[in-house]
Amino acid sequence: MLTLPDFPVRQRDFLLEISRAITARLELSEVLKRVLHASVVMVAGQVGLIALRSEEDGIFAVRAYAGISPDKVTPLNAHLADLFTGRETTPDYHYLNAKLSEMAVIIHDDLKQSIAMPLTFADKPLGLLIVFRSYQARITPGDMQILQSFADQAAIAVNNAQLYERINQERQRLAAILQYSGDGVMILDASLDIIQVNSAFEQITGWLSDQAMGQPVDEVLKWARIEQSDLRDAILQGFPRQKAPGSSPETFYVEGDLQRPDDLIVSIGITYAPLLNQDGRVTNYIASIRDISSFRRAQEMQNVFISTVSHELRTPVALIKGYASTLNRQDASWNMQVVHQSLQVIEEEADRLTELIDDLLTASKIQAERGVSLQMADVRLDVLGAGAVERQKTQTTRHEFILSFQELFPAIQGDARRLRQVIDNLITNAIKYSPNGGKITVGGRYSDHSVTFFVRDEGAGIPEAEQERIFERFYRVEGNLARKTKGTGLGLYLARAIIHAHKGTIAVKSTPGRGATFYFTIPRD
Ligand code: ADP
Repeated sequence: MLTLPDFPVRQRDFLLEISRAITARLELSEVLKRVLHASVVMVAGQVGLIALRSEEDGIFAVRAYAGISPDKVTPLNAHLADLFTGRETTPDYHYLNAKLSEMAVIIHDDLKQSIAMPLTFADKPLGLLIVFRSYQARITPGDMQILQSFADQAAIAVNNAQLYERINQERQRLAAILQYSGDGVMILDASLDIIQVNSAFEQITGWLSDQAMGQPVDEVLKWARIEQSDLRDAILQGFPRQKAPGSSPETFYVEGDLQRPDDLIVSIGITYAPLLNQDGRVTNYIASIRDISSFRRAQEMQNVFISTVSHELRTPVALIKGYASTLNRQDASWNMQVVHQSLQVIEEEADRLTELIDDLLTASKIQAERGVSLQMADVRLDVLGAGAVERQKTQTTRHEFILSFQELFPAIQGDARRLRQVIDNLITNAIKYSPNGGKITVGGRYSDHSVTFFVRDEGAGIPEAEQERIFERFYRVEGNLARKTKGTGLGLYLARAIIHAHKGTIAVKSTPGRGATFYFTIPRD
């Protein structure tokens, strides 16, 4: 007999307590604590534990205990570890009995009896509820039945709490994926109000999540330019269409330039995926947003590349062909001077072609290898500057050249051929982009740590917004001047790569209409 004479009454109380635990609590540890407490009291035991079975490997481990000192938990777990060996839903009771006696010894010397009940839900073993007593008392099959029905109630509570725990974990996992996704993510409700966004969304769109949430999507995502209809129009036209019953519904892609609240414009692509409920009605739209500015820029650059390069190649080729076929005419005889001048043009234009091809090759090499290789030696930038001015002076009559190097200019370690290329390019640009002439100052300064070289002109200058971009591959400032002057937009790109390879920096200062100063700084050691 169980020791509690008023067991039927108490049983009702405990069953009530368990059902309260089921409804009132969802945290697993709290549910286990209540179930355990009720069971220990119910069978007038002294000690109890609940072990739960891990879904991954089927191993049992103590998840709640009463009357057991914490240092006993690890040895108990070791005993529990091999209770279920396979996929069976009930333990081998013979084996379990042996185990229980061993466990009783671990817990306390004078535990005399143990009662174990499997916690089973829908034929699935969830765990084991064990109560130990310090005395022996008979347990009738009837008592055991009542206890088992109590354990079944407990199993429902445990199962619910485990489901809740799993859902919570899943939710945290999804929230983490969402938060750290590189793409912007935005969740809309069925009326297209934003209900959640992640941090990449904030970065791409310039909207803080607090400000964006709760707003209609078209209040937040404002297009400066859009290539097709937006989500709202698409919905009016029947989006999302279910292709076949059971198949996933179509997604909707829209691309364009987004006007951010800080007035920046970014090119983005958005994919909207609808979430449907069981009736096939949309409950949410999940939107993933990608910043495609760099992709756009690359596309633009490729177009510019093809047009500039073909233009730049065509001019010298046309000149070479023109002069060569003139010289080759059978019906005319040319004097030596004409022949000489024509050959000179052919040679110069062939040089220009070689130079252009060299630049293209270097640029593609930089792109592939992410840098320029250098042949280092002592280099004096003042000497390179003076030499370059000497050479370039002959190209123009409109400009006055001034050299302005600090005295006792020091040598640095560098690649003389590459640095000459940079300096030549800066001076050529100074001439090209000040077509009305003016002074061109080529000079340098130094400190203990670095040397700085500059080229200053009094030409058109460069608008502030373009001052970074002119160092990009193939980038040329749009306008009259660019159209009238030859160029590929490669010179400054190569210059920057060469200066970076020297661990230096290159930049421009300019007030449009009042000239530009290009300068680069290289460390001395
Ligand atoms: P390119 O001269 O072949 O076009 P660069 O890379 O040398 O290519 O220069 C890129 C662009 O920067 C030029 O097209 C021009 O718009 C601008 N630029 C360069 N140097 C100057 C300068 N000294 N003054 C004004 N604009 C300049």
